Amino acid sequence: MTSPMPAHNPQTLPQIVVGAGLNGLMVADHLRTNGPVIVLEAADRCGGLLGSFDFGTHGRFDHGTHIFAETGEAALDAYLQGLLPSEQWVQLRGHRRNFAGLVFNGHVQHHTLYPDLTSLPTDQYQACLDGLPVNDLGSESAPNALEYLERRYGSEIAKSVGVPIVEGFAKAPAADLSPLVTRLCPLDRLALFDGPTTMQKLGDPEISRRMAFVDQRELPESEQSPLASFYPRTRGIGQAVEALEQRLVDAGVDIRTGVRIENLDPTDFGVELTMQDGTVLAAAHVYWTANPLTMAGPAGVAVDYSMMDRPLTAVLCHLVLDEAPGLGDVHYLQVADAEYSTYRYTNYDAFCPEGHQTGVPITVELLVDEPGDPTALLEVALTEMAAIGITDGAPAVQFSAVNVLPYGFPRPTLANMAAISKVRNALADAVGDTVTMLGIGSRDDLFFMTDVLLASFVHVTQHQSATVGR
Ligand SMILES: Cc1cc2nc3c(=O)[nH]c(=O)nc-3n(C[C@H](O)[C@H](O)[C@H](O)COP(=O)(O)OP(=O)(O)OC[C@H]3O[C@@H](n4cnc5c(N)ncnc54)[C@H](O)[C@@H]3O)c2cc1C
Repeated sequence: MTSPMPAHNPQTLPQIVVGAGLNGLMVADHLRTNGPVIVLEAADRCGGLLGSFDFGTHGRFDHGTHIFAETGEAALDAYLQGLLPSEQWVQLRGHRRNFAGLVFNGHVQHHTLYPDLTSLPTDQYQACLDGLPVNDLGSESAPNALEYLERRYGSEIAKSVGVPIVEGFAKAPAADLSPLVTRLCPLDRLALFDGPTTMQKLGDPEISRRMAFVDQRELPESEQSPLASFYPRTRGIGQAVEALEQRLVDAGVDIRTGVRIENLDPTDFGVELTMQDGTVLAAAHVYWTANPLTMAGPAGVAVDYSMMDRPLTAVLCHLVLDEAPGLGDVHYLQVADAEYSTYRYTNYDAFCPEGHQTGVPITVELLVDEPGDPTALLEVALTEMAAIGITDGAPAVQFSAVNVLPYGFPRPTLANMAAISKVRNALADAVGDTVTMLGIGSRDDLFFMTDVLLASFVHVTQHQSATVGR
């Protein structure tokens, strides 16, 4: 609906940011130097997936593993590190930058996040190596996960290693999955050979870009990323978001939580947003950082949910255990074996040893079809720890809390990608250039925090310099 007459002066109208996750707050922080900004958040607090849960004497717990990684964009990296005083960060460098393990083929791999093929039975391992193509046969342009795996590693590895992992994770056939799933699992590399052979093959770019060390600590320093990771010294990544929220409040940014946007109408002057309580807000421009699907209703765009695959239910079980489970010194341990509902363990002590007083804090992420009862979900988490072999029987628990995430874990199926792309196009037609979509779902390749923040940062900093230079 378009207003017949301009009712407002766009120069004095606020800009509105929808969604107060780190992405939305960062966008608001950059916009505020150009004029008034209002942030609208559906939840009753800011932070989104970067918020922490504060359990008092048991400390803070995150939404699973969320550790900042430098992006390589110096201005953004400095911006993020500037959210807290420098002494409040732990810096993780070299192989400690992303120290992760994997449960694969019934083994707990402590020193690589990539499936270790050398742990397979000898015949199967040999068949995998025999089928490995000398070159990657164009995985980058593969239309689906199955073809990605076949082009990159050959059909034997695809069939016996890659396909069971991606299908177990996303609960859909590999041919129906976007290649993005191979970044979530991740399968862009495999531990193909023992250490000395891997070292020998480092000089061969065709194979080295597809392989990983069985023990990632053996990766020579010259091959390691110069970028660091960083995390608050006292546990809880949400502290960075809270500091940013406070900065915005101090600067006069109007942050409203618990809001529900009923209508979004482009007008001659910009956009008009109508809230559930009848409040109408006029804005010069809207930056929508929540998933674009959440804009469809307010913008009057129909979404055919029958064409989409439901998100998986993501459950967080925060635990303080009496004794350290067998996670070793990895920051997180991902689970690739399809029989488990556990997706990942976050081992806070490995990257934030000063974060608590007593006991051993971990977060277990489960991905399940249905939410279920919290007590039963906790039981699943504890039983699987013993089944996987990181505890000797059910662990002694000092504290536990279970959270079911409201939006779940988006499944990277081709059907979902196509449906979201269709909605994005319909939204662009409906709202024109009065709304900018940023964040997960605004582009097919955005999921990881680093990518999301970088895309938004580039957008707002370019927009700002264009506005200033006008
Ligand atoms: C289970 C899980 C695990 C993850 N693990 C990792 C990981 O290991 N590494 C990594 O890099 N990334 C990970 N991610 C992705 C990472 O969390 C995101 O990239 C990051 O949180 C994006 O930040 P954001 O601010 O854009 O989104 P969010 O943090 O999701 O914030 C969006 C905000 O918008 C609000 N909102 C939603 N709808 C509306 C509406 N209609 N109106 C107003 N507000 C609304 C939400 O309440 C929320 O506060 C994970 C994601 C999930 C779900």
